[in-house]
Amino acid sequence: MTKFLNLPIRSQLIILAVLLTLPALGIIVYSGLKQRADAYDDAVVESQKLADNLAAQQESLTNEAKLLCMLLSDLPEVKSHNVKKIQSILATILKENPKYINILIADAAGYVWASAVPINKMDTLADRRYFENAQRTLQFSSGEYAISKSTKKPTVHMAYPLVERNEFKGVVVVGFDLDAMRSILEQSQLPGGSNYIITDHNGIIISRGKNVGQDVGKPIQLVDLKRMENGPDKETYEFTRIDGDPRITTYHKIRLKGEQTPYIYIRAGISKKDALAKANRALIINLSTLLSFVLLAFGLAFIIGKHSIIDRISLLQRASQRLASGDLDFKVSDHLLGGELGILGQTFDTMAYQVASREKALHESQQFLTTIIENEPECVKLLAPDDTILMMNRAGLDMFQLESFDQIKGKTLYSFIAPEYLEAYKATNKDVFNGKQKRFEFKITGAKGRPIWLEAHVVPLRNNDGEIVSLLGITHNITERKEMDNMKDEMISAVSHDMRTPLAAMLGYLQFVMENPVEEEQMRDYLGIMYREGNRLNELISGFLDMQRFKAKQKTYVFKPIDVRPIVEEAAAIFACPSDKHQVVTDLPSDLPLILGDELLLHQAFSNLLSNAIKYSPGGCEIILGAKSEKDSVTLWVKDEGIGIQPELLDKIFDMFYRVDNKSSRQTNGTGLGLALVKEIVNAHSGRVWVESEPEKGSIFYITLPVANR
Ligand code: ADP
Repeated sequence: MTKFLNLPIRSQLIILAVLLTLPALGIIVYSGLKQRADAYDDAVVESQKLADNLAAQQESLTNEAKLLCMLLSDLPEVKSHNVKKIQSILATILKENPKYINILIADAAGYVWASAVPINKMDTLADRRYFENAQRTLQFSSGEYAISKSTKKPTVHMAYPLVERNEFKGVVVVGFDLDAMRSILEQSQLPGGSNYIITDHNGIIISRGKNVGQDVGKPIQLVDLKRMENGPDKETYEFTRIDGDPRITTYHKIRLKGEQTPYIYIRAGISKKDALAKANRALIINLSTLLSFVLLAFGLAFIIGKHSIIDRISLLQRASQRLASGDLDFKVSDHLLGGELGILGQTFDTMAYQVASREKALHESQQFLTTIIENEPECVKLLAPDDTILMMNRAGLDMFQLESFDQIKGKTLYSFIAPEYLEAYKATNKDVFNGKQKRFEFKITGAKGRPIWLEAHVVPLRNNDGEIVSLLGITHNITERKEMDNMKDEMISAVSHDMRTPLAAMLGYLQFVMENPVEEEQMRDYLGIMYREGNRLNELISGFLDMQRFKAKQKTYVFKPIDVRPIVEEAAAIFACPSDKHQVVTDLPSDLPLILGDELLLHQAFSNLLSNAIKYSPGGCEIILGAKSEKDSVTLWVKDEGIGIQPELLDKIFDMFYRVDNKSSRQTNGTGLGLALVKEIVNAHSGRVWVESEPEKGSIFYITLPVANR
């Protein structure tokens, strides 16, 4: 049953159609076979009837002939051999009885002395079977196949002995015209192939119902003769004629009273084909009709199966494939109308609608989530268990100084991690996977080389089986905090060192003045020293405050397009005449493009560079403030001809609190904060600051700032 149900619908329908036609086929075949059997039985009966009729006819002929012969034998004209009279009587009888071929009377030697039909009287009948038997038995006796000498027709003769005072005097002979029996067949209304033959005791054909004359005088097959000889007096059997026609045959043995052997055999046959033709035809018609209905049923099963079921199910199949591939607009119910499949189509559409709604909701929530993640100011990233990056939002890419996600997709973050933190980073990631840790700090070097401190909060994401499949990390930039911490540390050390030095000096002189009598001139020297140290302290505090202020406000600056020329010129004007030794010159082209920046910050940066140029050119010199436009930027410079800087210190001078320790710088006041602030300001403008210098020759400080309309 399961196998049947697993078959394609079309095959199932065809099998059902076949099964439904089986009972009808059974009934037709059964009734057809029954009809054939009945027709066969009828043919048997008909052949028997025909044989019976023929036998009865023959027996009645024989009886009549015997009676006729008896009557003739008693005639005085016969006894007296009145040839003329008897000849006339015989001719009259023959004329009235066409069933006889001839009637004749022969003497004891077999010579015919009277005959209804003229005959050669020189021939003797003494050698004939009927004559010999009649002479021997003195009974009415039968002959055998012979061609009538008088009429030349095939016949069989009977002889009746003429006996006077127990002496054999001759015979009265009657020759039968057996063709007369044909009327029995003609009146029988039997099928066309019905026929009979009459043979003598030797099986020689004397007469037949149809095809008159055919094979007359020839013997039937010996085997057929033997069957009749050895069989009962009458029998019906199936027999195949020499021409291959199967026949239902009944034979009759006809013998005269007192004779042992039959003198003729009557064999009547009906063609089996003819007998069964009607039944066969009916069976064929019924089978053909059934076949046409079966074919019709097949056709209908095929068409209905195709149009009502298979095509519609195929449509559902295609629709489900389209649904699976995401095409939710296809409406099945437009194509699938009516019936259970129509309802299924509507259900399908409802399902598709619900799937579409859910997909839409899912899409919306996904978009919502994506928007949140993409606009999240912190770095949001997804890591695979092997540490490769599966996802990173825009803020994350910015944090790692990457242009697009493709640069990092499928890679680890190891190349970004500062080498000294790499092992710790890997170990911590493992701990996160094991659920031991969720928050950690590490330092990276961004793709563009900028070092950043990051703090990561990591949440393991689990599948339905509870296994960790990925890590969701939210990382924020803590560089500023770290720098502030550093700055605080440095400040503390600066306070402990740089600020305590002038303060200790001031307090020392004050104590001395308070505790000792001091002369006026000496007092003035002391006060001068205290003033200088106080100034130094003031500069230090101002520098801290500037730096602190900048750091605090760094995030809130909004840069706008500005012209650097007035800023540079204003700074030059302020420092134009601190002493006669220095001359501040500007070299600014008139067509400088606007840059993105903050005027006050840039003013501060220029002032710091300019004051350094003056401060570190103690012998006086020309100081040039220059600018030029480049491809996407404007480069500004401050050139002096002062003490210069040793090449190995060119980078260090931008660090906080760094001061070159040499004779010249010791002679000048300073905090080591001026260039550090310049660097912070330029970095905030996405620019670059560097210095070219030669000891004792002078220095050039450069600042490059990006143009506004980039
Ligand atoms: P300060 O000037 O207060 O010492 P800065 O941060 O401004 O601190 O400068 C750091 C150091 O760089 C200075 O101590 C000085 O040795 C060196 N320096 C700065 N500008 C010049 C210059 N124009 N020429 C030579 N040396 C300079």
